[in-house]
Amino acid sequence: MPTAYLGLGSNLGDRRASLDAAVRRLRAEPGLRVLAVSAYYETGPVDCPPDSGDYFNAVSAVETDRDPHDLLKLLQHIEHQFGRVRAGINSPRTLDLDLLLYGDRVINTPDLVVPHPRLHERAFVLYPLNQIAPEARHPTLGKSVRELWDDRPIGELRAVHDPSERPDRSPDVLDGLSALVTGSTSGIGRAIGSAFRDQGADVIFHGRRDFRDGVSILSDDLSDPVACDRLVDEAWAMSGGLDVVVLNAGADTLTGDAARWSFDQKLDALLAVDLKATMRLGRNLGARMKERGRGVILTVGWDQAETGMEGDSGQLFAAVKGAVMCFTRSLALSLAPEVRVHCLAPGWIRTAWGETASPEWQERVRRETPLGVWGLPEDVAAAAVWLASPAAAFLTGQTIRVNGGAVRG
Ligand code: ADP
Ligand code: MG
Repeated sequence: MPTAYLGLGSNLGDRRASLDAAVRRLRAEPGLRVLAVSAYYETGPVDCPPDSGDYFNAVSAVETDRDPHDLLKLLQHIEHQFGRVRAGINSPRTLDLDLLLYGDRVINTPDLVVPHPRLHERAFVLYPLNQIAPEARHPTLGKSVRELWDDRPIGELRAVHDPSERPDRSPDVLDGLSALVTGSTSGIGRAIGSAFRDQGADVIFHGRRDFRDGVSILSDDLSDPVACDRLVDEAWAMSGGLDVVVLNAGADTLTGDAARWSFDQKLDALLAVDLKATMRLGRNLGARMKERGRGVILTVGWDQAETGMEGDSGQLFAAVKGAVMCFTRSLALSLAPEVRVHCLAPGWIRTAWGETASPEWQERVRRETPLGVWGLPEDVAAAAVWLASPAAAFLTGQTIRVNGGAVRG
């Protein structure tokens, strides 16, 4: 697939949040992969009406199965979703997305010019582009991005913002709470742990991989009940009592050696980790929380457990995750009123597997999800934050489908 470079700009509203959201939206697009994003630069307006505000600008490298015209349509659709009104050339905008380069293609049509005609003149484009792709070539000028940057384009760059740094946010809705997220060294679990921490919680991360991002417990395989009990003891002691527990750990039967296991081996692994460990941890931690008088437990199911999906994976996950969803409702009744218990049921979420899923899968996501995009781990995390927060005080025993509308209850 060809690599395209996109220019992102915003000079209205919360500019940083607009760029963050635009990058998330691109990451969710089936058939498109975000390969890199530059830092964000605050830049003075160039060729704009008087009184235009300063911009935040960034450049992103993407790989896509869309042709350039189709990609431009997508960019304009996203601009529109972000509330952009086309009020005149270079007028202020919440989000501007430009197609800068598309492989080595040269296009000159009324609605699309590639390479972008002003790309080589503008510092706010070339500086971030040079940061992520100095060797990319401009097909008509015959120069690399690094050489174009050396030609001294116009425009003033004022400040740099690292997109991974979180802005201050207050009030933090989970301030003062302690949380444990199992299976949180990657994917959805990691996104939930990070979101909890961003919202002020003290988070214990747990997993089998080495992980340096905060307090963590490395554990043996949770298919061992002794390891489950040890995790409960350690996490409870470390936190002095947990307020929120997310039972996210699951056996990976899709990638690595496990992908070649027999059906029965996969079933045993899923039953042991996804179901039995979730039940053991939920019952044990739930009893402690109930006695302490408060707490929230979230489990992780799967939206298609409710409708079925063809194939071995469909049978396996439907049986196991369906059992988790049913267990969760009974646990909620057992632990009420002190402890609230819910099941998060993700749909197609772009984890490591989704990043590299085949074109057929990209098409399937487009077709089967009413919202037309992949979910991101952050989407599941946002639901988890809300369920864990006091704002959700009147809910328990719910299955929350974070799935773009694919399966409706
Ligand atoms: P600008 O991005 O130059 O500030 P606008 O986004 O308001 O201006 O307008 C962009 C117009 O330019 C659209 O009508 C679009 O069809 C056209 N256009 C031509 N080439 C490109 C390109 N490479 N990327 C984005 N828009 C382009
Ligand atoms: Mg534009």
